[in-house]
Amino acid sequence: MDMKKRILVVDDDNMNLARTRIILGKEYDVFLADSGIDALEKLRSEKADMVLLDIDMPGMNGIETFERMKEFAADVPVIFLTASGLEEDVQNAIKLGAVNYLKKPYRPEELLRRVALEFEKA
Ligand SMILES: [Mg+2]
Repeated sequence: MDMKKRILVVDDDNMNLARTRIILGKEYDVFLADSGIDALEKLRSEKADMVLLDIDMPGMNGIETFERMKEFAADVPVIFLTASGLEEDVQNAIKLGAVNYLKKPYRPEELLRRVALEFEKA
Protein backbone atom coordinates (compact mmCIF):
# COMPACT_ATOMS: atom_id res chain seq x y z
CA MET A 1 0.00 0.00 0.00
CA ASP A 2 1.30 3.41 -0.97
CA MET A 3 1.19 5.81 1.96
CA LYS A 4 2.79 8.73 0.14
CA LYS A 5 0.83 11.94 -0.13
CA ARG A 6 -0.50 12.60 -3.62
CA ILE A 7 0.22 15.94 -5.27
CA LEU A 8 -1.29 17.15 -8.55
CA VAL A 9 0.94 19.65 -10.36
CA VAL A 10 -0.85 21.81 -12.96
CA ASP A 11 1.16 23.89 -15.43
CA ASP A 12 1.03 24.56 -19.16
CA ASP A 13 4.84 24.60 -19.16
CA ASN A 14 5.94 21.00 -19.67
CA MET A 15 9.49 21.76 -18.60
CA ASN A 16 8.25 23.03 -15.26
CA LEU A 17 5.98 19.99 -14.87
CA ALA A 18 8.91 17.64 -15.46
CA ARG A 19 11.22 19.60 -13.17
CA THR A 20 8.68 19.77 -10.38
CA ARG A 21 7.96 16.05 -10.60
CA ILE A 22 11.68 15.31 -10.25
CA ILE A 23 11.97 17.57 -7.19
CA LEU A 24 8.89 16.21 -5.41
CA GLY A 25 8.99 12.64 -6.68
CA LYS A 26 11.21 11.18 -3.99
CA GLU A 27 8.90 12.14 -1.15
CA TYR A 28 5.50 12.34 -2.79
CA ASP A 29 3.35 10.57 -5.34
CA VAL A 30 3.18 13.19 -8.09
CA PHE A 31 0.76 13.35 -10.99
CA LEU A 32 0.51 16.02 -13.66
CA ALA A 33 -1.98 18.09 -15.65
CA ASP A 34 -1.06 20.49 -18.45
CA SER A 35 -4.27 22.56 -18.43
CA GLY A 36 -7.10 23.61 -16.16
CA ILE A 37 -9.53 21.26 -17.89
CA ASP A 38 -7.10 18.37 -17.53
CA ALA A 39 -6.66 19.23 -13.84
CA LEU A 40 -10.41 19.20 -13.16
CA GLU A 41 -10.82 15.85 -14.92
CA LYS A 42 -8.00 14.32 -12.89
CA LEU A 43 -9.32 15.73 -9.62
CA ARG A 44 -12.72 14.18 -10.31
CA SER A 45 -11.24 10.72 -10.86
CA GLU A 46 -8.18 10.60 -8.59
CA LYS A 47 -7.45 11.49 -4.99
CA ALA A 48 -5.16 14.48 -4.44
CA ASP A 49 -3.83 15.65 -1.07
CA MET A 50 -2.55 18.93 -2.53
CA VAL A 51 -2.59 20.86 -5.80
CA LEU A 52 0.20 23.06 -7.16
CA LEU A 53 -1.60 25.32 -9.62
CA ASP A 54 -0.03 27.59 -12.22
CA ILE A 55 -1.98 30.83 -12.60
CA ASP A 56 -0.94 31.85 -16.10
CA MET A 57 -2.35 29.21 -18.45
CA PRO A 58 -4.15 29.57 -21.81
CA GLY A 59 -7.83 28.68 -21.94
CA MET A 60 -8.80 28.22 -18.31
CA ASN A 61 -6.30 30.01 -16.11
CA GLY A 62 -5.37 28.96 -12.60
CA ILE A 63 -7.82 31.32 -10.89
CA GLU A 64 -10.75 29.95 -12.91
CA THR A 65 -9.55 26.40 -12.31
CA PHE A 66 -9.41 27.09 -8.57
CA GLU A 67 -12.97 28.48 -8.60
CA ARG A 68 -14.28 25.34 -10.30
CA MET A 69 -12.24 23.10 -7.99
CA LYS A 70 -13.99 24.62 -5.00
CA GLU A 71 -17.29 23.16 -6.22
CA PHE A 72 -16.18 19.58 -5.54
CA ALA A 73 -12.69 19.60 -3.98
CA ALA A 74 -12.81 22.55 -1.62
CA ASP A 75 -10.84 20.77 1.09
CA VAL A 76 -7.75 20.14 -1.04
CA PRO A 77 -5.01 22.67 -0.23
CA VAL A 78 -3.68 24.68 -3.16
CA ILE A 79 -0.36 26.40 -3.68
CA PHE A 80 -0.46 28.79 -6.62
CA LEU A 81 2.52 29.02 -8.96
CA THR A 82 3.20 32.46 -10.38
CA ALA A 83 5.70 33.89 -12.78
CA SER A 84 7.73 36.63 -11.12
CA GLY A 85 6.37 40.07 -11.87
CA LEU A 86 2.73 39.02 -12.05
CA GLU A 87 1.72 40.77 -8.84
CA GLU A 88 -1.88 41.10 -10.04
CA ASP A 89 -2.15 37.32 -10.21
CA VAL A 90 -0.84 37.02 -6.68
CA GLN A 91 -3.34 39.58 -5.39
CA ASN A 92 -6.20 37.76 -7.11
CA ALA A 93 -5.11 34.46 -5.59
CA ILE A 94 -4.97 35.97 -2.11
CA LYS A 95 -8.47 37.42 -2.53
CA LEU A 96 -9.71 33.91 -3.26
CA GLY A 97 -8.32 32.65 0.01
CA ALA A 98 -5.08 31.17 -1.20
CA VAL A 99 -2.47 32.37 1.23
CA ASN A 100 0.19 30.22 -0.30
CA TYR A 101 1.94 30.87 -3.56
CA LEU A 102 5.35 30.23 -5.03
CA LYS A 103 7.12 32.36 -7.57
CA LYS A 104 8.64 30.53 -10.51
CA PRO A 105 11.36 29.52 -10.99
CA TYR A 106 11.53 28.08 -7.47
CA ARG A 107 14.56 26.40 -5.95
CA PRO A 108 14.10 22.71 -5.09
CA GLU A 109 14.59 23.23 -1.36
CA GLU A 110 12.09 26.11 -1.33
CA LEU A 111 9.46 23.99 -3.09
CA LEU A 112 9.98 21.05 -0.71
CA ARG A 113 9.85 23.32 2.33
CA ARG A 114 6.61 25.03 1.26
CA VAL A 115 4.86 21.77 0.43
CA ALA A 116 5.91 20.23 3.77
CA LEU A 117 4.72 23.32 5.65
CA GLU A 118 1.34 23.17 3.94
CA PHE A 119 0.89 19.53 4.89
CA GLU A 120 1.79 20.33 8.50
CA LYS A 121 -1.12 22.80 8.66
CA ALA A 122 -3.63 20.10 7.75
MG1 LIG B 1 1.92 29.12 -17.32
